[in-house]
Amino acid sequence: MFNLILFGPPGAGKGTQSEKLIEKYSLIHLSTGDILRSEVAAQTDLGLKAKELMDRGDLVPDEIVIGMIRSKVESSMDANGFIFDGFPRTIAQAEALDALLSELGTSITTLLALTVDEAELIKRLLNRGKDSGRADDADETIIRNRIAEYDNKTAPLIGYYQEQDKFTKIEGTGSIDDIFNRLCESINVLN
Ligand code: AMP
Repeated sequence: MFNLILFGPPGAGKGTQSEKLIEKYSLIHLSTGDILRSEVAAQTDLGLKAKELMDRGDLVPDEIVIGMIRSKVESSMDANGFIFDGFPRTIAQAEALDALLSELGTSITTLLALTVDEAELIKRLLNRGKDSGRADDADETIIRNRIAEYDNKTAPLIGYYQEQDKFTKIEGTGSIDDIFNRLCESINVLN
């Protein structure tokens, strides 16, 4: 299996690039943000618990997202591989993902990290908020909280994956196609 983590702060372009990558490489897209938003829309117990945290731009508890990912991965083990988008976001999530994949006889192939400066992230998210209907894209204070959550809890994953020799930075500015081509070049070396 080819299992890719598409990494980066909110607004780095992970969702956009994942859509293009799954098509080219026939991978399954697992976005914990998308899964959580569908739970919120369906007003499940899990969705009701997560909504308040998501609307504030705080991370939801590790157990919740780890449980969601486990059931999605286990039910798609016949796939060519997965793109993890927005997961893992904490060291505990990364450890749980490694343990789950190893239990299932596979592992993370690589992590590609989209780099975009903070001013550009805020601009992109505010812009997306005009039509995304997402409360967490509409307000600069919430966006800054999401970036702070990334800096405090998610950025430490860089070291975690560097230690495993699986971390590559990809310049995340420029046209969507330019960024996509950079990602593909890195993937083609490994695939
Ligand atoms: P995203 O669509 O990836 O920007 O995620 C939107 C929101 O969902 C985040 O701000 C968090 O509240 C929540 N979320 C998504 N993925 C995770 C995760 N892996 N761990 C914790 N919270 C998450």
